[in-house]
Amino acid sequence: MDIIDALQTLSEEIKNTAKQISSLKDAEEFRVRFLARKGIIAELFEAMKELDASEKPQVGKRLNELRETARKLYMEARERFEKGPAITSVPIDRTLPGRTLPVGHQHIITRTIDEITAIFISMGFSIACGPEIETDWYNFEALNFPPDHPARDMQDTFFIGNDLMLRTHTTPVQIRAMENGKPPIRIVMPGRVFRNEVISARSHIQFHQVDGLYVDEHVTFADLKGTLVAFAKRYYGTALRYRFRPSFFPFTEPSAEMDITCYLCGGKGCRVCKNTGWLEILGCGMVDPNVFRAVNYDPDRYTGYAFGIGIERTAMLRYGIDDIRILFENDLRINRQFIWP
Ligand SMILES: [Zn+2]
Repeated sequence: MDIIDALQTLSEEIKNTAKQISSLKDAEEFRVRFLARKGIIAELFEAMKELDASEKPQVGKRLNELRETARKLYMEARERFEKGPAITSVPIDRTLPGRTLPVGHQHIITRTIDEITAIFISMGFSIACGPEIETDWYNFEALNFPPDHPARDMQDTFFIGNDLMLRTHTTPVQIRAMENGKPPIRIVMPGRVFRNEVISARSHIQFHQVDGLYVDEHVTFADLKGTLVAFAKRYYGTALRYRFRPSFFPFTEPSAEMDITCYLCGGKGCRVCKNTGWLEILGCGMVDPNVFRAVNYDPDRYTGYAFGIGIERTAMLRYGIDDIRILFENDLRINRQFIWP
């Protein structure tokens, strides 16, 4: 048989065999049969050495073409079956109901932080964050807690070596923001804080705060009241009444705590408000001039207000949760009761 005819037959055999490949295993058999080191094509290359010199170029060229064709068919088959069977080969019952995938949702804490910060963002505040491990300067000294001042005892601290601690409040972020920028500064600072306290239904070693700060020329207590009342009405409802009680924080002067009428009983007195009719929702005040001096702001030129909202307390009041530990235990039976759209 003429060698060129034989190659033609082989060409058809390769194509027919390739058409019948229906699995990765078939593809491998194809490769072994035609393309392997001892496969048909390799053997023909070997046999070519016996041919006349005049025939070699033509046969060689044809063999090369066949090898390319076989390789291409093999690669295509592999690709086809490595992707799995074609979808059309799987019977589909389009009338079956779909499977519902469980959808995740935000934790109560995350949700509360997002809701609170969104309200302040809508009033022109932006978000700032800082590290959870702080130095004495940021956590205390720059915030007008002098060394050995009894105010430091208000916040039981986890110390890490001499100068480092887990921050006891998000207020240090105020210092960092003022150091890194010039007034006007209008920021809210959400984050996690730590206190060295006995864990109980009412207190935990970790919780979250959102601090707020507004610094500019001519900022007054009226600005503070206007902003915080607007916040409280957006978050708790427009029907509430409010009051500011004098309080003390080292980094603000004067300082106050803001109460709103209990949204549960409307001020009549109930278990949640401990029969007072009032709920404390945040601490606030005008930035102490010593804090401005710590960040090299001129206290004669700039004034500002600051406030701090406890997230766990807010969430517990709002959702009627009476044990703070629940918020950190991730018991799905609890978490699934708080699913938002
Ligand atoms: Zn009440």
